[in-house]
Amino acid sequence: MPTGTTSGAPQVLLAHHLRQLKLPTVLREYDKVARECARDGVDHPRYLLRLIELELIDRERRTVERRIRAARFPAVKSLDTFDFTAIPGLNKMLVLELFRSEYIVRRENIIALGNSGTGKTHVALALGLAACQKGFTVAFTTAAALVSQLLEARDERRLLKLQRDLAAVKLLIIDELGYVPLSSTGAELLFETFSQRYERGSTIVTSNLPFEDWTQVLGSERLTGALLDRLTHHVSILTMNGDSYRLRESAGRRRADSKAAQNQATVDAVDLDTGEITTV
Ligand code: ADP
Ligand code: MG
Repeated sequence: MPTGTTSGAPQVLLAHHLRQLKLPTVLREYDKVARECARDGVDHPRYLLRLIELELIDRERRTVERRIRAARFPAVKSLDTFDFTAIPGLNKMLVLELFRSEYIVRRENIIALGNSGTGKTHVALALGLAACQKGFTVAFTTAAALVSQLLEARDERRLLKLQRDLAAVKLLIIDELGYVPLSSTGAELLFETFSQRYERGSTIVTSNLPFEDWTQVLGSERLTGALLDRLTHHVSILTMNGDSYRLRESAGRRRADSKAAQNQATVDAVDLDTGEITTV
């Protein structure tokens, strides 16, 4: 029966060995759990089982945290904070199904299309977080950042390594395709990334542009066709057109602020295309 003492040579040696074996939770908890087991009359195998289970739970948590850090999300967003009523055109059932991350096992893609501020990045980030929690490796980037990374890697003769890394990640999220037109080399490199991931891993793309306008960004009809062919072979499309959540929120805040200040001017309406605020 463990005695639960904390001093003496065995403890020093044990601490050393546990560190070497990378069992930090066992090291932290063994004495406390020993006391509990002694108190409750729990036998040795069950004592050991409790400790090892604690280590396993902690290890899984640390792995998820590491995956989240490696994904380089610009913000942590979850489905819990996503208000589906704000975007009634979005297929909620499909989104909930995607949150199970099974599309990653099937190596399928997701495209979220819609105007600015409708929650595309939010959903992509939340899907990325869910994938990390389910045990998949994830990388988040924007189309512009990815292309400049690829161009830089090419100039520094480490393109193959970057391409290999990009192809290996289970879920690659490419946000904001369409905001910046790409150079022809940039577009070719982006196409290669899709090509190399084809049926190897899942990709999420968000864009403010409908498919017919993608040629403007990629610069070539041929390339756009070939890219869409690969991307849309196995795909779920999230249509996210609607009012900008950002503008609505700030309009709401402004309305509350002006009322609180008993200002005569009350925000009456926000033009959701221009962001212009009408006061009366
Ligand atoms: P987009 O990428 O489509 O331009 P974002 O995802 O960046 O839009 O959304 C802008 C801001 O509004 C973010 O802070 C996001 O969390 C929030 N947001 C957008 N849609 C929703 C929603 N339906 N529920 C909760 N927050 C939302
Ligand atoms: Mg966005």
